Amino acid sequence: MSHKYVYLFSEGNGSMRELLGGKGANLAEMTVLGMPVPQGFTVSTEACTRYYEDGKKIAPEIEEEIYANLAKMEEINGKKFGDKENPLLVSVRSGARASMPGMMDTILNLGLNDDVVAGMIAKNSDIKFVRFVYDSYRRFIQMFSDVVMGLAKSTFEVIIDEVKEKKGVKNDIDLDADDMKELVKLFKAHYKKEMGEDFPSDPKTQLMESVKAVFRSWDNPRANVYRRMNEIPYSWGTAVNVQPMVFGNLNENSGTGVAFTRDPATGERALFGEYLINAQGEDVVAGIRTPSHISKLAEDMPEVYKQFADIANRLEEHYADMQDMEFTIENGKLYMLQTRNGKRTAAAALKIAVDLVDEGKISEDTAVLRVEPKQLDALLHPQFDAKALKAAKAIGKGLAASPGAACGKVVFTAEDAKAWHENGEKVVLVRLETSPEDIEGMAAAEGILTVRGGMTSHAAVVARGMGTCCVSGCGDIKMNEEAKEFELAGHVIKEGDYISIDGSTGNIYGEAIPTVAASISGDFDRFMKWADARRTLKVRTNADTPRDAAQAVAFGAEGIGLCRTEHMFFEGDRIKAIREMIVAKTPEARKAALDKILPYQQGDFEAMYRVLEGRPMTVRFLDPPLHEFVPQKEEDIVELAGELKISVDELKAVIAGLHEFNPMMGHRGCRLAVTYPEIAEMQTTAVINAALAVNKEHPEYNIVPEIMIPLVGEVKELKFVKDIVTSTADKLIAAAGSDMKYHVGTMIEIPRAALLADEIAKEAEFFSFGTNDLTQMTFGFSRDDAGKFLDAYYENKIYENDPFARLDQNGVGKLIKMAAEGGRKTRPDIKLGICGEHGGDPTSVEFCHNIGLNYVSCSPFRVPIARLAAAQAAIKEKNAK
Ligand code: ADP
Ligand code: MG
Ligand code: MG
Repeated sequence: MSHKYVYLFSEGNGSMRELLGGKGANLAEMTVLGMPVPQGFTVSTEACTRYYEDGKKIAPEIEEEIYANLAKMEEINGKKFGDKENPLLVSVRSGARASMPGMMDTILNLGLNDDVVAGMIAKNSDIKFVRFVYDSYRRFIQMFSDVVMGLAKSTFEVIIDEVKEKKGVKNDIDLDADDMKELVKLFKAHYKKEMGEDFPSDPKTQLMESVKAVFRSWDNPRANVYRRMNEIPYSWGTAVNVQPMVFGNLNENSGTGVAFTRDPATGERALFGEYLINAQGEDVVAGIRTPSHISKLAEDMPEVYKQFADIANRLEEHYADMQDMEFTIENGKLYMLQTRNGKRTAAAALKIAVDLVDEGKISEDTAVLRVEPKQLDALLHPQFDAKALKAAKAIGKGLAASPGAACGKVVFTAEDAKAWHENGEKVVLVRLETSPEDIEGMAAAEGILTVRGGMTSHAAVVARGMGTCCVSGCGDIKMNEEAKEFELAGHVIKEGDYISIDGSTGNIYGEAIPTVAASISGDFDRFMKWADARRTLKVRTNADTPRDAAQAVAFGAEGIGLCRTEHMFFEGDRIKAIREMIVAKTPEARKAALDKILPYQQGDFEAMYRVLEGRPMTVRFLDPPLHEFVPQKEEDIVELAGELKISVDELKAVIAGLHEFNPMMGHRGCRLAVTYPEIAEMQTTAVINAALAVNKEHPEYNIVPEIMIPLVGEVKELKFVKDIVTSTADKLIAAAGSDMKYHVGTMIEIPRAALLADEIAKEAEFFSFGTNDLTQMTFGFSRDDAGKFLDAYYENKIYENDPFARLDQNGVGKLIKMAAEGGRKTRPDIKLGICGEHGGDPTSVEFCHNIGLNYVSCSPFRVPIARLAAAQAAIKEKNAK
C-alpha cells in the first residue's frame, strides 16, 4: 500500500500530533471521546514536507487521497461538495505540531459559488437566511482572496465601508440581504480586476488551492519569525484540517466563542471565556464586536451552557491540564471546534501547576515540566512601586489582558516600537488592534495597549504568550493614528509621551510610574523548591557588582561563575589610574599606577565576598583589549593628556599604538598578562587579600578563591600566567599565616584550547566554557557583526537560530564535549561549567546537563530560568530511562 497522507478524524487520536498537528490530533481525540465535532479529515504534516520536497506541488497520489477522503466526509455528513440541493461547506485550517496562534490563516465557508448559493436560497427564502448566505459567501471570497491569492483583506474592507457610507450606516449588522448580495458582486469584480481572472467557482479547485496555501503559509515571514522566537524547527511542517462548517452566524439561536477551563491570566479555577451570538468564529478573535462573558451563556442558552461546561470539565480531566477551547452553536446545537493546552501567563502557569498537584491530578515531576522556563522571566521583572501606584491616578481602564507593569514612551506602530527599542528606549505600543504582522514590535515593547478586542484578541493571546504586559479593549480611547496621538478622558497623549499600564488591573496612567524589583514567594517559591530538588546541575551567575550578586542570590544563584574585573575599572577615579597604567612606559611606572587601582579592586572583591556569604566566586582576570579604556574623541584626548601630564601627541601615539585591525582576536585576555605580568600580580593580590580579609571577619565562609585566566589557547601560556598567580598568592597567604586554599583555572573559548584540553587540564583546575567567544571563534564571525547577514541566513534556511542566543550543539557543542572529555581524562575531578549568554538559555542548559557539566552561569535575571531548565533536563533524562 502506498504511504498514507490523509486521516479522517475518526482514524486519529491525541497522541498523533507529530503527524496530524496539534489541532488535528485533538480534533481526533475529541472524536474518540464522543464529543460533538464536525467530522472531517486531516492532511498530515508529512504531506507538507512532501509538498516542499516536490518543489511546492501536491503529488497526484496525495491529491487523489484528499478527494477520496472528501467523498468519505460527504457520506459521513450526508452532504455533497458543490451540490445545489444539499451542499457541504468546509473550513480549511492549518495546524502545526506546536500551536502557533494566529500565525496561519483559516478559510471558512469554502465550497460556496453562485450555483450553491442559488440552491440554498431556493430552499429557504427567509430574508434572514438569505442575508446569512450572502454574508457567508462574501466572507469566503474575502478570506480566500487574502489567504490563497494574497489580495489583502483590507482592500475588501474599503468596499464594505463604501457600501456602508452610501447607505448611511455604521455597522456591518446594519447591512441587509441585498447589501450583502451587492457586496458579493463587488467583491468578485474586485477580484477579477486585481487577479485578471474570475473567482474560482469549482469547489474542488477552491479546496486544493487552499490546501496549498496552508502549506505555503508555513514559510511566510511571520511564521518564520514566530518559529525563531519559539524555537520551532522549520522541518516540522504543518498539517491541514478540512472540516464541515457549522454556522454560529445562522441566527439568534447560534453563536460562537472561546473558553479556558481556568483563568489564563491568574490561573484561577473557573470557566473563563467569551462568546458572541450570531457570529462566525473569527469575529470573537478579531475584536471587532465586544463579546459577552461565558457565564452569561448560562442565561442565554442554559442547556448548551451545561453541555459545554461538562465537556470542558471532561477535557481538562482527560488532558490533566488547562484547556483552551473553541466552540460554535448552530441553531441551538453545540459543536466543539478545537481544544488545546491553553497558553497562560507565567503566574497562571505556576498556579495551575501547583493546584493540579494539590488536586492530585499530576505529579510534582509533571508540574515542573509544565512551566516554560523562559516564561519565568515575566515574574522576575519589576512591578509598579506600590506607593507610587497608589499616588497615581488612572486616566482610563481597559481589560487586564496580560499581567505585569509597563512604563514607557508611546509609539503607534510596530515598526516604531522595534526601532525605538533598538535605540534603547522603553516603549508602550498603542494600537487600535494588533495583527500578526505586529509581532516583532510587540516583542520589543514593554507593554501593549489596544483600543479594540477582548481577552482572547490577538494582542491578548500573543502578549500572554510572550509574558508582555497588555491592556486590551480600551474603547474610551479616541485614536488619531495619523497625528500620532490619542485622547483618553480629556488627556491628549502624543507619540513619545510617557504612559504606564497595569496588565493586572487594566488601569492606564498618563504618566511614568516607577517600578520595583520582584521577589520569589508563594507558589513560585514552592514550585522552585520542587525544581531544585530535582536538578543536578548547579546554577551560578555572572555578576560584577554586589548589587547584581545580591539580586542573583535572591533568585537562587549558588555562586558567581563569572566576575568580570574590567567592569570594575570604569567607575569613578579608577579609570584614571587605568589610563595612567596604559600610558606607562616602564614596569615601575605601570606598577605605580596599578598600586592605585589595587585598593579599589580589593575593596570590590571584599564587597562581593560579603554578599556571597561563603558561596564560591570565579574571578576572571582582565580580558578586553586596552584600547577600550582610552578615549577616541579629540576633546577627550586633550583633556586626558592634561590629566596625565603628557603631551597630546604623546597620548595620541599611545592610542594609535593600541589600534588593532581585529581587536576581538588581538592583544587581549591572557596575552595582556603575558606582556604585563604586573597586571596579573595586582589582580591576584586583590583577590587573595580580599578573601583573607573576609575569611578573617567570617571564618564560617571558608572562602576558596577561584582565579580564571581568559583566552588561553596553549598550556604554556596558561602556565606562564599561573606561575605569576601562584607565586604571588602563596607569598600573601603565608605572610598572613593562613592555610587558605585557592584554585586556578581557565576559560575554554578558543577552539585550540578545546582541541588541546587534555594538555591544558594539566595546569587548569577548572574549565569554564566562554561560549560567546567560543561561538564567534568557531563560526568565524563576531556577534557584533552577525546582525548584518543573519537575516539572510534565516531567510534561506541556512541557520534557524542565532548561535549567540542558542548554543550551536552540532559545532560549538562538539568542541565543548571534546574539551570536557579531554579535561576529565587528565584530571578526573576537574570542575566544568559554562559562563556565556547560553548559560541562561533553556535548550543550552539541557545540553550542559546532558554532557555532564557541573554548573551553568548566567545573568541574574536568568538564574530561575536556568534552575528550572536544569530540573526539566534531569526529569526528562530520568523519564527516558
Ligand atoms: P486559529 O488556529 O488561528 O485559532 P482556527 O483554524 O482555529 O484558527 O480557526 C479560526 C476561526 O474559525 C475559529 O474561531 C474557529 O472557531 C472558526 N472555525 C474553524 N473551522 C470552523 C468550522 N468548521 N465551522 C465553524 N467555524 C470554524
Ligand atoms: Mg483556533
Ligand atoms: Mg571571552
